[in-house]
Amino acid sequence: MRRVFFAVLLSTSILLPLSAANTGDDQPLYGFTVATSKVEREWENKFRAIPDPKILRDTMQRLSARPHHVGSPYDKQNAEWILSQFKSWGLDTQIETFDVLFPTPKERVLELVAPSKYIAKLQEPPVAGDPTSNQQSEQLPTYNAYSIDGDVTAELVYVNYGLPRDYEELDRLGVSVKDKIVIARYGNSWRGIKPKVAAEHGAIGCIIYSDPHDDGYFDDEVFPDGPMRNENGAQRGSVMDMPVYPGDPTTPGVGAKGDVKRLALKDIPTLTKIPTLPISYGDARPLLAALKGRMAPESFRGGLGIAYHLGPGPAKVHLKVAFNWEIKPVYDVIFKIPGTEAPDQWVVRGNHHDAWVNGAEDPISGQIALLEEARALSVLLKQGWKPKRTIVYCAWDGEEPMLLGSTEWAEYHGDELKQHAAIYINSDGNGRGYLQAEGSHSLEKFVNGVARDITDPEKNISVWKRSQAARLVAPPRRMDQQQDRREPRSRADLRIGPLGSGSDYTAFLDHLGVASLNVGYGGEDGGGIYHSIYDDFYWYTHFADRDFVYGRALSQTIGTMVLRFADADVLPYDFTDFADTIRKYSDELKTMLKNRQDELRERNQNLDDGIFTATSDPRRPTVPPAREEIPPFINFAPLDNAQAAVDRSAERYAKAARTFSAGTTEASKRALESLNDKLIQSERRLTNPAGLPRRPWYHHLIYAPGYYTGYGAKTLPGIREGIEEKRYQEAEKEITRVAHALEDYAAAVEAAASELEKVGK
Ligand SMILES: [Zn+2]
Repeated sequence: MRRVFFAVLLSTSILLPLSAANTGDDQPLYGFTVATSKVEREWENKFRAIPDPKILRDTMQRLSARPHHVGSPYDKQNAEWILSQFKSWGLDTQIETFDVLFPTPKERVLELVAPSKYIAKLQEPPVAGDPTSNQQSEQLPTYNAYSIDGDVTAELVYVNYGLPRDYEELDRLGVSVKDKIVIARYGNSWRGIKPKVAAEHGAIGCIIYSDPHDDGYFDDEVFPDGPMRNENGAQRGSVMDMPVYPGDPTTPGVGAKGDVKRLALKDIPTLTKIPTLPISYGDARPLLAALKGRMAPESFRGGLGIAYHLGPGPAKVHLKVAFNWEIKPVYDVIFKIPGTEAPDQWVVRGNHHDAWVNGAEDPISGQIALLEEARALSVLLKQGWKPKRTIVYCAWDGEEPMLLGSTEWAEYHGDELKQHAAIYINSDGNGRGYLQAEGSHSLEKFVNGVARDITDPEKNISVWKRSQAARLVAPPRRMDQQQDRREPRSRADLRIGPLGSGSDYTAFLDHLGVASLNVGYGGEDGGGIYHSIYDDFYWYTHFADRDFVYGRALSQTIGTMVLRFADADVLPYDFTDFADTIRKYSDELKTMLKNRQDELRERNQNLDDGIFTATSDPRRPTVPPAREEIPPFINFAPLDNAQAAVDRSAERYAKAARTFSAGTTEASKRALESLNDKLIQSERRLTNPAGLPRRPWYHHLIYAPGYYTGYGAKTLPGIREGIEEKRYQEAEKEITRVAHALEDYAAAVEAAASELEKVGK
């Protein structure tokens, strides 16, 4: 019945302008009253007029002028320069240093030894016209950080993206990687998953290359003629087992400072089990071309213009890597603006400043926005603006190797942060296009509110409208994949995706339970310079946000978020979007279990009936899949009951919040402070100090990076991964744990609602 009603509504709303779901300036901001909202809007408007594309450009040129990885001279110089900028604006700034394990390459050899010879170049040559691409003496060579040392020679096997499902396919084709070296292409997962899964299947070495189909001429012209990866570009990057814990590998859970106890190298559980090296497609082509054996299945084939074979052999390769295992300093640059009314409630904002090489896009395009926000905040302070809450800005070091600077800082200051931090807002680079935000769903309404107030520089409509339009046409990348295509018209708020890992929010959200966001613009530019020497000022100013208007938009967006969170009467969390999202996740899990049961029942039947044998082509035989037990039914009732409690409390809170915003009487400061202290703690209720199964560092029970995806989030991870990895009893136990956390959360929201009802009277 409901569906019909919506269908009619939708067909007429197509004729309406997109602004139908927009709210006007006359509405009070969420978390403010009519009166305080007016004052807030004035400060926000002043703020948004300040960020300047010219300054953004100059700052990028300065910070990306030389390679600035952890431990390099220019990394330290950049930290000191950022410090001096903040100080020159009158901001109370410190550099906080941690000492972390950061391996750099000592030896890298990759050669094809049979049936022909080829020695991999492992070099990214300078490009004429690109003035920073020739700084070889300061560039880190192409390598994967936290690969173990190793020297192996073996036949080669091509494993597509190197994910669990690729190995299932290889099994069906009768191809084993045991005692072989695998070559996997980049993409479809975080890179660290590839050597991990290869080792689990018995491989002794791992090569990761950038295939031009995913990252090269298949997309667009290659650098320097276009933005994409050329045949010599290779992707550096960490391969540490981040889904177990990020940060300094020698000090899990504690800040790497002073005489902290450290794990010995041999006891670190997160280094790879096999030597690993990244290469360009120029170096990969001769290796892949020398493979024979079975043709690779269609989904394995890339854009090299060769017949992709799986091997093993006759291609045989020699891979040797050795590293300098050294402790290096990381320099986090931190300033605080003390709050005037509630100094113990903190708004925390960060972006990293270290890069793999020059890093104009990653991370400087985000760092320059952060610097412009800081300058604009200092201008507002001089004009008399006084934030209610304390604002903490962080320019992180050591993000690239493994979120080192942010994780160590968050671990070191963990107790204070758990008490005080109301929100952590992250960015990590920026581009041209659509607003992309992911994070805690208690912040979804807040994000939508800010997005309605930011103007898109290319279209002169709000970035909210532009994002809505994009979702109606085609869901952009990095957005929630499951949503109904028409939903952006019918739902008040655009959905934000969940956070997995891959940037500095990880310790805040996953370890401490601080409500967090990751924000940036993108979707209009391709780019194939990620983690190469070509990610530099020349590339950025030719192929990315050339006039820095999206740099300005990012400053305006996050600056508005910081101001609004720091100034709100009632912290602008909302729980109805959260409740809706959790329901979606738990529905997904029920469907997933049912699908698995159906699928395996069918498969086992086919095995009984000899279907796989009957259809195996004798010239290209396939191996029948293994028989598996059909998953048992699982009791989701505790989750459903907890969901009902979350729904009720969220509705009650939303009603109280509406009454508060419409009210005119001024609430007592003490009552508000006590209410906000409670609200800050709500996200913490979603954590459990025992952590997730087999990865105790990850405390959040709703969001985590997938054990086999890395960047990609797994929501309700304990339950979901229990089902995916066939640990059904564990999944059922996790349902109970998640249900307890959600009930606790609902109780906190209920208590906050009751206080807000009193405040709002
Ligand atoms: Zn980055």
